[in-house]
Amino acid sequence: MLSDIATTVLLVSSEVAPFAKTGGLADVAGSLPKALKLAGLDVRVVLPRYRGIGDLETLTDFPVEMGGRKETAILRRSYIKAHSNGDVTLIPCYFVDNYGYFDRPGYYGFPDDAERFSFFQKACLEMCEAIGFVPDILHANDWQAGFLPLLVKERAVKNPAWRRTATVYTIHNLKYQGNFPPWVLDLLGVGKEHFHMEGVEFYGQVSFMKAGIVYADVINTVSPTYAREIQTPQMGEGLDGILRKRSKDLYGIVNGINYHEFNPETDQRIFKNYSWRDLESRRQNKYALQREVGLPVGDTPLLGMVTRLVEQKGLDIALEALNSLLSEREVQFVLLGTGAPDLEAAFTRLSGRHPSRCRVFIGFNGVLAQRIYAGSDLFLMPSRFEPCGLGQLIAMRYGSIPVVRKTGGLSDTVMNYDPASRSGNGFVFEEYDAGALKRAIERALEVFSRREEWNNLVTSAMQMDYSWNRSAAEYQEVYAEALGRKGRVERPA
Ligand code: ADP
Repeated sequence: MLSDIATTVLLVSSEVAPFAKTGGLADVAGSLPKALKLAGLDVRVVLPRYRGIGDLETLTDFPVEMGGRKETAILRRSYIKAHSNGDVTLIPCYFVDNYGYFDRPGYYGFPDDAERFSFFQKACLEMCEAIGFVPDILHANDWQAGFLPLLVKERAVKNPAWRRTATVYTIHNLKYQGNFPPWVLDLLGVGKEHFHMEGVEFYGQVSFMKAGIVYADVINTVSPTYAREIQTPQMGEGLDGILRKRSKDLYGIVNGINYHEFNPETDQRIFKNYSWRDLESRRQNKYALQREVGLPVGDTPLLGMVTRLVEQKGLDIALEALNSLLSEREVQFVLLGTGAPDLEAAFTRLSGRHPSRCRVFIGFNGVLAQRIYAGSDLFLMPSRFEPCGLGQLIAMRYGSIPVVRKTGGLSDTVMNYDPASRSGNGFVFEEYDAGALKRAIERALEVFSRREEWNNLVTSAMQMDYSWNRSAAEYQEVYAEALGRKGRVERPA
């Protein structure tokens, strides 16, 4: 066990729930540390201090060298609470603050993102030295932290304290790569000798994502299927070659969800708490949702989606399939999402065409999201690709049956329901096609019409275990593997 050797872990992420969240990365960065802490590891977390994150304790400040200039980082702290059997354990969560870089509306998409996240990553290492916490494992997540494995290696040349640190790099979504012009190397303080095809160079640019893949001791992504998919030219986003090269160091670990936060028995955001033993109370949530969103109240099948409105999520086929279903059948549909303006407009038009059956809410709303998980019968995720996907896991936990495309983590967590054997926990289709999605929904509606069989399906989906316990144990194995590369522990068999 890693806890026996008092392993220290610093998890670096650009988003951490509940402080800053745009998607699944934040959920993972906020939840995995809790499970690791409860397993006995000394884990801490760091993210930038964005606008709107309040109530922080100020610890210290220090200069960060940025291409010959010095910028000041202010280090602040709060805690993440891990609950277990009525006890609360605190996990230190650090915030790198700099008004110029981070006191803005939003997290990413600024012209100086290269500089902002170079600063953040360099400040993370300075922070460790400032507070005397050079970790055994530095766990970097996605492109915003992609340079850290190389920065750690370079740092170790000057400061022996870092020689024992093993690096783990997690790819949550290969599509967002952080590719910037070569001058960013000066800001990072990284030498030109790394600017080549086997290093950080990517079509003439510097790729933060590629840096993580090349230099981390161990790499993982958020499901076994996605780990295989990204090694193919079709889904490798141009990085499949380098990923194939590191195939032996590349793991796939399905995300869990936080069973304390996502618990229909205690969730304060929903209309009425319920468990798998009490589907009648679940039905009250459906009626309440229908009332709240202004749909006719009753037992009409209710389809839900909570999603970023981006191309990845399969929204073009969803629009086509739903438009035809809503015209033909007695079904209801409610969507909560925000993102690309053209997709927002397309869903708003869909609701205009089917005013008595369809409601669309543009925006980010954690309360309505939970009410949709608790009140819908089916939860749609027809993604083009999906590294892991949390929506389907939350949906199952709340008894909304997922209808998903067979890709990435959706394929690892949702098994197609077979009415003959009554096995499976959702409805799965393969081809990226509106017809295939529509047929999968129709298969689901067929089972929905058989009340008892449907209730059994809901009950068994609600009892599946997608908590962090199992995934956190797998992360510990990956950490042990990374420490093994440093000669620190015996490698697991
Ligand atoms: P991704 O990380 O690609 O956005 P995931 O399924 O992994 O997709 O995670 C999405 C998470 O964000 C889920 O917890 C989902 O409920 C939440 N979410 C997405 N869009 C919204 C929204 N508009 N309002 C509230 N929560 C949302």
